Amino acid sequence: MKRIFLTNVRIVDGDGNPAIEDGCLVVSAPEKVEEDSSILYVGSKAECQLVPQPEEQVVDGTGYTLMPGMFNVHVHLRATSPRYQFKCDPYGTPYRTLIYLRHHMEALLKGVTCIRGCGDSHGIDVAIRKALGKKMLWGPRLVTCGKAILPHGGHANHQLGSLECSGEAQFMEAVRSQINDGVDQIKLFYSGGASDAAGANMFTAHITDEEGAAACKVAHMHHKKVAAHLSNDVAIQSAIRVGVDSLEHCYYMNDETVQMLVDNDRWLVPTLTVTDANHSDPAWLGAISPFVVQRLRDVHQIHVESIAKVIAKRGAEKICTGTDTLPTDLFDDTPATTYECEMLVEAGLTPLQALQAATGNSADLCEIADKTGRLKVGLSADILAIKGKPDQNIRDLRNLSMVMRDGRIVFSKLESYQQPLQFLPPEWLECDTMGTRVPW
Ligand SMILES: [Zn+2]
Repeated sequence: MKRIFLTNVRIVDGDGNPAIEDGCLVVSAPEKVEEDSSILYVGSKAECQLVPQPEEQVVDGTGYTLMPGMFNVHVHLRATSPRYQFKCDPYGTPYRTLIYLRHHMEALLKGVTCIRGCGDSHGIDVAIRKALGKKMLWGPRLVTCGKAILPHGGHANHQLGSLECSGEAQFMEAVRSQINDGVDQIKLFYSGGASDAAGANMFTAHITDEEGAAACKVAHMHHKKVAAHLSNDVAIQSAIRVGVDSLEHCYYMNDETVQMLVDNDRWLVPTLTVTDANHSDPAWLGAISPFVVQRLRDVHQIHVESIAKVIAKRGAEKICTGTDTLPTDLFDDTPATTYECEMLVEAGLTPLQALQAATGNSADLCEIADKTGRLKVGLSADILAIKGKPDQNIRDLRNLSMVMRDGRIVFSKLESYQQPLQFLPPEWLECDTMGTRVPW
């Protein structure tokens, strides 16, 4: 295996440590499909003992910061965002699978090298994860939650492929069915949400403590984490009591809820992007009813303030990046995952901490920190190059200049190393018809 030397770079490790200035990063670069990459050296250029051979690639990264590939841990890669009324599938499963795959592969172009599918239909996520694992396909890593589990008539009950349950036995059965299908984690819809129709109850739990506890008990017996969609204090407090591991969205949190979250040491995936209707791409907004758009506008500032309270108490610990939109959807003309990092800074994280949320923290939540998520010797080479200093100015994260996935350069715009898009159709790189912009 050859090596690639990235020198004269700044390096952000994904663990929240200050950037290494004048750094060097060396990776093994696979030449065969079956080979895996590995980070061989991370540190100061002066102390690097590895010497490039004449046939090995040396890239001058002056002016660039290297960081781990980003995670987006709250995504639904199914077809576009519009809600499917009356459980009618306008696509059919085979075509839906292709849409899912296209959305998945596109994410790589936006610097996302790992996705947690946070509830998807028809077992598509598990099938694609298996194909990726066997190297049949090329794209970000995928961590799966399978079908979302919800109470009868609960949030998103009209969406396809969810499992509606009532009573402890049905919740336990649903969790077992998803584990049997091969999912990595479990997703519950625990309360109403901003995207519900007018009149929906946003301010209570929709799952009883007994039902939530039964679902968590089965999941934890199988060492699976549970993520829950949560909108309000009553639901969040219930979810914490019953053992939900990963709290998603959390628009409304009073001081008591925030204290409970911190005391019980739970993961938090704010998805601040999804409520920021004032900066959404019109294509995304156009797919949502005007009533929901207004509710998103009403809730967004409250949402930011709720997350800010957690950050004020706990800093970056156990905060992760998820968007609840496709990674290719644009907010303020920038891809959703990048925008979520900016939103987390608005809620109180430092830029360096926001990068930690998008990388190391999210790898821990996904339980793949032994493979990726940090720039550490021995881990897989999932690496981004950003022009500027995103750890100091988060807006620099918009200057995505190189994506490396498992030691393969996907594209590079570095002055010293120009590489067109590889592994994916070249015209995708500058393509503006992605995600919900295309009415598949
Ligand atoms: Zn979601």
